[in-house]
Amino acid sequence: MRRKKQNVVFIIILMVVSLVMLFFLIMEKKRQEGDKVLIYVNGTLMQEVSLDTEDEILIHGNPGDNVLVIQNGKAYMKEASCDNHVCIQQGEISKNGETIICLPNQILVEVSAENQKMDAVVR
Ligand SMILES: [Zn+2]
Repeated sequence: MRRKKQNVVFIIILMVVSLVMLFFLIMEKKRQEGDKVLIYVNGTLMQEVSLDTEDEILIHGNPGDNVLVIQNGKAYMKEASCDNHVCIQQGEISKNGETIICLPNQILVEVSAENQKMDAVVR
């Protein structure tokens, strides 16, 4: 009798742990998917661009200009007037919260998933 009760408790704990893990997996997946990029120059939001588009965007930085490419749901810095080209080396970004920073031109590109959060609320 006592043994049976222990088994039930064990199964309940296992189910709760599984559910919690599933919940975190879903949250992690949601967090990772971005749907637009925010372009900041000198700390000011200059432009919002959807990651669904295919586009080349000329960013008027301070003092130089950069070219950001959006393709296949990803964004990367194609051209930059800065000396070190660290921003180009940062590669592609597509996940929520990922950034490309060009310090010499004071440009910050950040992936955001604001629309997806709204979708979740509507559903
Ligand atoms: Zn740069």
